[in-house]
Amino acid sequence: MARFASVVLDADSTLSGIEGIDWLAERRSAAVAAESTALTAAAMDGARTIESVYADRLARVRPSREMMAALGAAYIRSVAPGAEACIEALRAAEVRVVVVSGGLRAALLPLARHLGIPAADVHAVGIRFDDDGEYAGLDGEQPLATQAGKPAVVRSLGLRAPVLAVGDGATDAAMRPEVSAFAAYVGFVRRASVVAQADHVLTGFDELRTLVLP
Ligand SMILES: [Mg+2]
Repeated sequence: MARFASVVLDADSTLSGIEGIDWLAERRSAAVAAESTALTAAAMDGARTIESVYADRLARVRPSREMMAALGAAYIRSVAPGAEACIEALRAAEVRVVVVSGGLRAALLPLARHLGIPAADVHAVGIRFDDDGEYAGLDGEQPLATQAGKPAVVRSLGLRAPVLAVGDGATDAAMRPEVSAFAAYVGFVRRASVVAQADHVLTGFDELRTLVLP
C-alpha cells in the first residue's frame, strides 16, 4: 500500500542535476551568465521580485527553440540516479506523479517522456518563439515564474491526498501548507533553510521509493 497517493516533483536540481536557465545563460556568453547570476542574487536578497527577475533573465538569455532542444538533452544526460526506476515503481503502484517546476516546459518535456511522466502532468513555464525559432517572450501569464506559483498550481491541480512534495529549493518548501508532507531533496544541493522546513530529507530516488512504497 502506497503511503502517498500523489507525488509532486521539482525538476532542476531534483529530477536532474542542472539549473536550466543557468545552463542556457552559460551557453549564450560569459557576460550573460554573469548578468543572470547577478539577477538571481538580487531576487535572493529581496532587492528584486522573482517575477521581474525571471522575465529579465530570459530577455538576456533569449532561449531559441534549438537551445531548448539542447537543454532537453542535457536534462536527460544529468538525470538523477535511480529516478527512472523510482518513477516506474510509483506509477505501477498507481501513485500519481506530477512535475511542478519554475523551469522551461519545452525543455522539460523530453525529460518527462524519458521518465514516463505524461506531458499533461508537466507544469512549468511556457515561452513563445517567432517564426525563425527565436525567443519571443513568456507565453502569456505564467504563474510558475512567480514567487507564490508552486503552492497556487498545486492547489489548482486537486491531487488525490495524501500528497508528497519533493524539491531542493525555497519555492518547493513553500508548497508545504498545500500538501500532506514535504521532502527536501539533497541529492544535488543541500540548503539548510529548506531542510529545516522538511518532514523528510532524501539523498536519492531510492529513498523516495522507500518513503512512498514502504
Ligand atoms: Mg530545484
